[in-house]
Order: sequence, then C-alpha cells, then structure tokens
Amino acid sequence: MAEGFVPAYRKLGLEALRRRAGEAYRQLKRCELCGRRCAVNRLLDETGVCRAGRRVLISGYGPHFGEEAPLVGEHGSGTIFLTYCNLKCVFCQNYDISWEGGGDVVTGRELADIMLALQKRGCHNINFVSPTHYVPQILAALYLAARRGLGVPLVYNTGGYDSQETLKLLDGIVDIYMPDVKYMDPEVARRLSGVEDYPAVVRAALREMQRQVGDLVTDRRGIATRGLLVRHLVLPGGLAGTAALVDFLAAEISPNCFLNIMGQYYPAYRARRFPPLDRRSTKEELRAAIQLARDRGLRVYT
Ligand code: SF4
Repeated sequence: MAEGFVPAYRKLGLEALRRRAGEAYRQLKRCELCGRRCAVNRLLDETGVCRAGRRVLISGYGPHFGEEAPLVGEHGSGTIFLTYCNLKCVFCQNYDISWEGGGDVVTGRELADIMLALQKRGCHNINFVSPTHYVPQILAALYLAARRGLGVPLVYNTGGYDSQETLKLLDGIVDIYMPDVKYMDPEVARRLSGVEDYPAVVRAALREMQRQVGDLVTDRRGIATRGLLVRHLVLPGGLAGTAALVDFLAAEISPNCFLNIMGQYYPAYRARRFPPLDRRSTKEELRAAIQLARDRGLRVYT
C-alpha cells in the first residue's frame, strides 16, 4: 500500500479487534447475521438457510484481476471465496459453491495465513467474497493476521443482505464495502432469491455502509483505500430495478457514489425456468441502465 496507509482495523487496535471478534462469536449462538434471522445455534453446528455451521469453508483464494480497477491495481485483489451464501438466487453463477457447498474447511489460523500470503504476493487488499455468514470467524482470523502484520485494506464483498447488527460489528474494521445490489422490488426479490424484504434490508445496509466509510477514496496510484463501491448486475427485463436504485443512491447515499453497472448476466443454474432470466441482458438494456445512472450524476464504472 501507499506509504503511511493504515487500514481501519489497525487504527482500531488489536485489543479492540479481539474483543469485537469475541462479541461476534457470541452472536453465532443465535445466528441473525443476515436478514434471514434463522436464530440457529451455529456454535453447536446447527445450520440455517445458508447451511454454514461453526467452521469456515472456502472454495479458493488468490490474486484476482477481474475486479474493478481500483481494487486490482498492479498486483491484483487478494480474493478469498467463501463457501455457501445467505441469498439463494435462482440464477447464481457460482451455485456449486453457494448452494452445493463446494470447498474445504479452514481453521482461523489457516485463514490468517492465507491473508498474509496474499499480502506477501503484493495484493492491494483482502477481498472476502460472500462473507456475511462468516463474519465472526473472519474477525477472529483477522485478529490473528493483524497481530502478525497484516496491513492492507479489507474489502467486504457482499450480496447486501446483511443485518444491521452484523454491519455494526464491522464498524471501524472494514475499509471498503462492496455490496452487489440485486433488486429493488420485494416481489422480484421473493421470487428470485426467496427474500421479500431484500430491498428494505439492502437500503438500510447501504445507509450504514456509507455512514461508516463514505465515498470511495483512491490513492495517487488510483488504488482504493476506503469507501463504498456499489455493484449492480443488469438483469433481463428490468428485473434488477436499476431506476429505483440509482434514484436511491443519488438522493440518499451520495451524489458521488461509485457504481459499477455490470452487463455479464447469463442464464445459469435454474434461471431458464424463470423467464425473462432465460436470456442474456441485451446491449440496449445495459446502455439504458448506464444512462440512468449517468443522468443521476453518479460515478459510473462499466
Ligand atoms: S447467516 Fe445463515 S444461519 Fe445466519 S441468519 Fe443468515 S442464513 Fe441464517
């Protein structure tokens, strides 16, 4: 990282980080880490909708060059792909990991080793993909890694269905929030992910994330050091609710909000049973979504 950079979790201090990890672990006793609020005791390895228990599973890790340029820089984003997901999207492009549980168990020490190895390889950040259901375990591993010299920013790369309690646990720890906002209509969210309250939960999450970290900030090399980076996949037939999202971001989050409008949708998993998800998004749909965001003055990344 740029000289003098100190990530949020190091400013917080090791003792506070240790306490926060302990506080987070206690929440596993009655898991309400996400909007599903299953209330299962994951310390006893009971599982809820996401199917994650006490132990962490990851499906892979490494420097990743397919993320947004401010995360990738020269040496890549240090991405760690976590197994299972609290959202159950019918069009999931990683369903073997998120639904079927592909991956290997790692201990907290091993997770800390991975973070440090990614830093050693020059990655500009540690990027946890689908982290919500493992926040307590991530914080415990982060404490171990910070003790051993971890010093790059933490990216929280989430589907956005995080409870407020979970986000409070991350306050002063996460440097970069990267929620992927999927829908803005409750009926669409119910049909495609089984979570009717997704729009309400993600709106509240975006407000809290912006309160914690503010607009996206980059260093003189253009590498992100802090802030909110919103992702939004354009679904066919306007299902993603782009107009409502950009209105919300401009009016209630920030006119300078950094928004990546993504056009790579293709029908995966069970999508063919849910028209119009049985086709790709068209170039016109993508263009229209980008235009909507530009019209609101957002910092649009494509
Ligand atoms: S993280 Fe998993 S177990 Fe916990 S509330 Fe969400 S879906 Fe349920």
